Amino acid sequence: MLVKLTNRQVKLGVIGSPVAHSLSPVIHNYMINELALNYIYLPFDVERGNAKKFLNAASLMGVTGFNVTMPHKQDIFSGVAEALGDALAAGSVNTAVLKCGRWLGYSTDGDGFNLSLLEKGVNVRGKSLLLLGAGGAARAVILSAKKNGAGKIVVLNRTAANAKALADSMGVEYGGLESSRIAAEFARADILVNSTPLGMHGIDQDFMDLSFLSAAPGIVCDLIYNPLRTELLKRAEQKGHVVINGLSMLIYQAILSLELFADMKIGAHEMKSGVEKYLLKNGYIH
Ligand code: NAP
Repeated sequence: MLVKLTNRQVKLGVIGSPVAHSLSPVIHNYMINELALNYIYLPFDVERGNAKKFLNAASLMGVTGFNVTMPHKQDIFSGVAEALGDALAAGSVNTAVLKCGRWLGYSTDGDGFNLSLLEKGVNVRGKSLLLLGAGGAARAVILSAKKNGAGKIVVLNRTAANAKALADSMGVEYGGLESSRIAAEFARADILVNSTPLGMHGIDQDFMDLSFLSAAPGIVCDLIYNPLRTELLKRAEQKGHVVINGLSMLIYQAILSLELFADMKIGAHEMKSGVEKYLLKNGYIH
């Protein structure tokens, strides 16, 4: 543990279930230490359905801010006094901050994703996006892409009804996740974003067919960060595409959350590089 425990630290944390695998405590405590802030960041395993109880208990326990992961993002959205910005647009909160006795809800996922593109010199303005998957992460990416002036956006998903629901609510196009459809849309898109868990460690499923990557080089992003280089990213790199892994989004959304918790500006690119090196050196990511 990098942060030395004192009795005067202000508490931050992450709630989820399960939460044991979360990298947020390591990332935040590293940043807290680097910035010499008077915080400590803790994991809180909170069962599904108890998120609103946690919101009340947190202020009593001296917690002034926390991140939210599966399965609580929607419950905290409906529990906070006010949701702002992307959280309001997405109906989902990943960062809750106690201000003047009121819990405010934010979402930093979309801006975190956009910073991961900017780091590689990619500006979404006018670019077309193809998203695979239609869950919460896809929604955050679409919100961010629209906010930053992206062109056409297409969502392909295993369950058509979920693709339609997301596409209709965001005003984008949608379709099924068949290989032929992926290939056709990929050939027309500038940026591909995998927002399914296909290829993730512990999920015994991956893309059946990656031959679509033979199309002209573009940008291929995978929101997965374990492993760092999924089969999709390995093959995309071989075919000459620019590749972006999910660790960048994860770290940038954490930096943006800490900016909200501590009400301060952090040099995002420099901090991201420090966090990434720390995670790699200490074996937190592979
Ligand atoms: P989610 O809300 O549960 O949505 C999952 C999506 O993936 C759904 O569209 C689902 O399709 C699809 N899917 C699930 N299993 C599939 C399979 N076997 N084959 C094809 N499609 C499948 O999850 P989420 O929060 O959006 O997360 C999606 C991915 O993004 C995860 O890998 C997660 O780790 C990653 N993520 C990364 C970050 C980051 O900071 N890097 C942040 C958030 C999420 P159906 O509609 O058919 O069920």
